[in-house]
Amino acid sequence: VNLANQIAAGEVIERPASVVKELVENAIDAGSSRIRIDFIDAGLKQIVVQDNGSGIPSDQIDLAFTRHATSKIKNEHDLFNVSTLGFRGEALASIAAVSHVEILTNATGKVGTRAQFSAGIKKGQEEAAAVQGTQITVKDLFYNTPARLKYLRSPRTEIMKIVDIVNRIALGYPDIAFTLMNEGKLLLRTAGNNNLRQTVSSVYGRKVAEEMLGFKSSDNDFEVSGLISKPELTRATRNFISILLNGRYIKNFRLSSAVMDGYGNKLSDKHYPFAVVRIKTDPLLVDVNVHPTKREVRLSKETELSRLITNAISTALLIKEN
Ligand code: ADP
Ligand code: MG
Repeated sequence: VNLANQIAAGEVIERPASVVKELVENAIDAGSSRIRIDFIDAGLKQIVVQDNGSGIPSDQIDLAFTRHATSKIKNEHDLFNVSTLGFRGEALASIAAVSHVEILTNATGKVGTRAQFSAGIKKGQEEAAAVQGTQITVKDLFYNTPARLKYLRSPRTEIMKIVDIVNRIALGYPDIAFTLMNEGKLLLRTAGNNNLRQTVSSVYGRKVAEEMLGFKSSDNDFEVSGLISKPELTRATRNFISILLNGRYIKNFRLSSAVMDGYGNKLSDKHYPFAVVRIKTDPLLVDVNVHPTKREVRLSKETELSRLITNAISTALLIKEN
């Protein structure tokens, strides 16, 4: 069982940023309005994610740390109709397999629960004072899988990957207040007031946010909206294009290209815009069960969606010109 967990962990948990992503997505699925992330030593020494969501009842903690046990999918229909970020039930088990985890959670508002796991083995559970929600502390990531440690990049790069994933998630959920701290230093704080421009301002700075143009369009299947930079305001990489499908940050080359196409020939060579593209659609049109990290998804009607995005963006740029 432990070996299986360690192997599964390798697919889901590649690096500290994967831990952050999975824990934050769980916090979102739990209905949180505030999520705070703290890390030490690029996440290798410690990562803490604290939320004010539903909490986990004391008798369900073991299940939460069991691989492929999830409270989010109950039948086959649910698997094709995923409305939560998680659904495979492997993140907590995978994280616990390669670290020391402590969970402090309160689902009732009365007394809470504290439990500890090390290398996938439960070390204890007791009643504890806790506010409503969940706090998960991950210590000494990959301490028992030295091969993983060797594969990591420099602390600077690992920190950048943590910041990047939290930025994208924050852009997908402007209604949630995120705080990200590196060894006590504030890296990101969003207001959580459901204002996308303000969220973009927290992520990319006020100057970028103020310069961006809004766009919005829809057809029978998709609703697209968001903010794009004017052609003058660009960067040398694609990294500032964020595609958020029902809140989930996804990587999709065709949809990024659709964003670029919206600019026509307005972008100078090798320059890419800032863009936050939010897509709302029926979960039935999305297959998220393609890869364990769920970063890549399969989309029905991708061509139609690409066209919708391109048109919405070119229209917004045209209006700006006139
Ligand atoms: P999944 O998200 O795919 O269901 P995870 O391993 O990430 O699987 O989490 C397992 C289960 O633990 C979830 O289904 C959920 O019931 C519970 N859980 C995890 N994190 C939280 C949290 N922050 N708040 C409430 N419940 C949580
Ligand atoms: Mg999850």
